[in-house]
Amino acid sequence: MAARRRGTLKVLGLTALLPYLAQVVLAHGSLHKYSTTIPLPLRPLALDVACPLPVDDVAEAWPLQRPSPPWTHPPECEHAMDRTTKYCAYINSRHGSHGWSIVTSPETAADSAALLSKPLNTSRLGENWRDAPYKIVDMPGKGKGVVATRAIKQHEEILLDYATVLVDIMFTTRVPAVLGYRLLHAAVDRLSDPASILDLGRSNGLAKDEIENVLRTNAFNTPVGGVPHIALYPTLSVRGCLFSCFVSVLGINHACKPNAYTRFITESLQVSVGAARDIEAGEEITNSYIPLGQPSADRKQKLQRWGFTCRCSLCAASPAETAASDTRRREIERLRDHAVRAFQGGQPYQALRLTRQVLGLLPAEGLLHTHGGEQYENMARVFFVLRDMRNAEKYANLSLGVLAEQGYIQGGVGGEHLERMWKRFEEEEGGRY
Ligand SMILES: [Zn+2]
Repeated sequence: MAARRRGTLKVLGLTALLPYLAQVVLAHGSLHKYSTTIPLPLRPLALDVACPLPVDDVAEAWPLQRPSPPWTHPPECEHAMDRTTKYCAYINSRHGSHGWSIVTSPETAADSAALLSKPLNTSRLGENWRDAPYKIVDMPGKGKGVVATRAIKQHEEILLDYATVLVDIMFTTRVPAVLGYRLLHAAVDRLSDPASILDLGRSNGLAKDEIENVLRTNAFNTPVGGVPHIALYPTLSVRGCLFSCFVSVLGINHACKPNAYTRFITESLQVSVGAARDIEAGEEITNSYIPLGQPSADRKQKLQRWGFTCRCSLCAASPAETAASDTRRREIERLRDHAVRAFQGGQPYQALRLTRQVLGLLPAEGLLHTHGGEQYENMARVFFVLRDMRNAEKYANLSLGVLAEQGYIQGGVGGEHLERMWKRFEEEEGGRY
């Protein structure tokens, strides 16, 4: 029997609009079972009162310094509880229409500074985009919503936004809360439009601090220089609605079977919303706040943090339809898990059989366009380790085709993409069967 595989198969869809809690699992790329440990919230205030304030010689010296480009303000810094790591708030209040700030280590800030010199495509942002194919309207029973003003083709880009505030994920666990809040406020208050951020979380009441509230309901996971950060995209952000909804920005409502998906463009820290299928004029544009493909009970439980009961077409289906859908979704989950285990356990043919079954079940749940790509890649991976390159190539092309449709690959799929995939498989699997 072949050696136990080191690599694993993909088990999560990539293209939902996932707020931070869900996005955090995607940062790790492929394919393990993900930890659900979430670093937020910041350490409680009570813990910090007893802690001596760390002395930051550099921070003390900063008020005397002038800000250095590309930053428009001197950085504000605090030491982590280990007294050696340092986090600072760096601000460029003139970047884009809201300004741009990052709370991170000096090393990552140096990396990220290069991003500020790149031209920022803001021509299609928010409500001011002249040819925007959507408008924000009052929706009965759910406050505001976003509605298509014309027909939108599948995979067409609906809107584009860029990160306005970024926060190193580790910062939230390493810096005492009082000091952490100070840096978060420095990062937000000096933006050219702080209200664009503050308005996102004002009324959700999840945390004592208003910026923490925003982070807890609206942040998305975005790596910066390979370091996991959480990012706020004010145009795209969802709303914290635990007690009442406060809507001042474009808020796309949730649906469990949405007609739009989100794509993160990590090189430019931008995020775009694309059409998951053809959307008709007048149709509401929806996106999922939670990972796609879950049974109804799991969806309900995960949506509780937004304080609403989902009444999308999937949740409002008849009990019989809901039961059938739940059965299929649980079966997809079970088969995917078994496929991963079979592959890792040196049973590639079993993994292929199970993955084929997954692919057979996805269309009935409308999940082929979101989950199909990774399953195709899994098929390619197994055929690759079996040295069946004809089939490996067939499924690799199917997988890459999905990525191209979703805009992750520009200019068509080419031989270089296949080569890169083989190289990755070779590295991750440590050779073939
Ligand atoms: Zn729903």
